[in-house]
Amino acid sequence: MVRGFLLDLDGTVYDGGQPIPGAPEAIVRLKQMGYALRFVTNTTSRDRAALVDKLNGMGVTVTVNDIFAPPYAAARYLRKEQASAMLLLTESARQEFGDVPTGGDRPDTVVVGDMGEQWTFAAFNRAFRALMDGAGLIALGMSRYWRTADGKLSLDTGPFVAALQFASGVEPIVLGKPALPFFEMARLDLGLEPDEIAMVGDDIEGDVGGAQRAGMTGILVRTGKFREADLRGEVRPDMILDSLAELPAAVATGSPPSPPTLGGAE
Ligand SMILES: [Mg+2]
Repeated sequence: MVRGFLLDLDGTVYDGGQPIPGAPEAIVRLKQMGYALRFVTNTTSRDRAALVDKLNGMGVTVTVNDIFAPPYAAARYLRKEQASAMLLLTESARQEFGDVPTGGDRPDTVVVGDMGEQWTFAAFNRAFRALMDGAGLIALGMSRYWRTADGKLSLDTGPFVAALQFASGVEPIVLGKPALPFFEMARLDLGLEPDEIAMVGDDIEGDVGGAQRAGMTGILVRTGKFREADLRGEVRPDMILDSLAELPAAVATGSPPSPPTLGGAE
């Protein structure tokens, strides 16, 4: 029985700066229907406060506690381990790491997220040298690419982590979709069992495949980075929707409280 949803943001709730038509209304409706919600994103270019501002600007009322993102998960992990970290992140994403020591050129850990246009050889090489000196590697996601507002595909975090791993031989700990530890941390944040959770997203592997391997229901939306070829791969979504806007009606047809089409694949 599905009691809560993990909702992807980029390509699912909004595309670039624009909300997916009907998505903000669908989120409001799901809340009214009593479902627990968390926004689970691999976005590492912004901190949670910036994401909250963006969502509130689209008419989706949320607080930072509604958002589960890799920088937050990594900062929590580093505090627990009392580890210093070199942060290859945008200024905005660094906000989550306020009290985590940097460790200069000899950090305990190198944390790699999406730096977009800010990637430089110097930053890359500094991280490489730290890894060769024994630092661990945390990847804030391993997504290969994403679709920008102008419709073009753009490199995400994964290729940069892979390059550092290739050069140094250091295996990354991945704290982002589709890694199991990240889904498990999000599940605990939601306070539900895996079979009570459905993940909704536009990434057949990162969202749907990752959720299914964590024991959750995986719902694919045909927005964002979705391409028809995604349906010919190994991952089989439990449900496919044209967009997030369709979700309240899809779950309502079987309500209350859980439609047979959801979670019926086990
Ligand atoms: Mg997405």
